[in-house]
Amino acid sequence: MRVLVIEDEVRLAATLQDLLELSGYAADVRHDGETGLDDALTGIYDVILLDVMLPKLDGFTVLRRLREAGNAVPVLMLTARSEVADKVEGLDRGADYYLTKPFDPKELLACVRALTRRQPELRNPEALEFGGVRLDKSSFTLSCGQRSVRLSRKEFDICELLMLNRNLVLTKESLLVKIWGYESDAEDNNVEVYISFLRKKLAHIHAKVRIRTIRMVGYCLEEDG
Ligand code: CA
Repeated sequence: MRVLVIEDEVRLAATLQDLLELSGYAADVRHDGETGLDDALTGIYDVILLDVMLPKLDGFTVLRRLREAGNAVPVLMLTARSEVADKVEGLDRGADYYLTKPFDPKELLACVRALTRRQPELRNPEALEFGGVRLDKSSFTLSCGQRSVRLSRKEFDICELLMLNRNLVLTKESLLVKIWGYESDAEDNNVEVYISFLRKKLAHIHAKVRIRTIRMVGYCLEEDG
């Protein structure tokens, strides 16, 4: 699980990072809204902790741009006690949860856990389904009606990620990091090769879904038509 902390109070940001890392999360910190948004848009984070008052871009603008870009990552907003009216505004703009500063570390961790568990039915089913296509987790098969095909481990991992993020754009960078890991030498080219394998297999089972290429960005799994 990777958490992005966007908070300009340097000491608070460092405390949050320590707290998250001690609890087993990987945590990155950005101190302004602009670089924070850039990082959030990579799609590699499972939760984002977002301060409201930030240099360059405020938290509400960061949140709005994230949602406009089709990014559905759970966002926990951190607000000062004097900014309670902001809560209403943030809720309207698609924040998932609020914490008022100063907060109890236990409460923060409870929120992060709740947000990462938000879609249990999508995270741990035996099979994922989308547009008549079924991805079976025990047999590594992709099927549509009576037709089915077995996937390699990498094909399966990529297909799973696409199905969990159906109708959303997955960047090549996020696919690289999530499937191959940070330390790997894999490049964009590896992603393209596996996407082409998956497309052939989708065609083979006459699937009514397709992996659309978003030029210079990444891929999106969507229904035909
Ligand atoms: Ca602030």
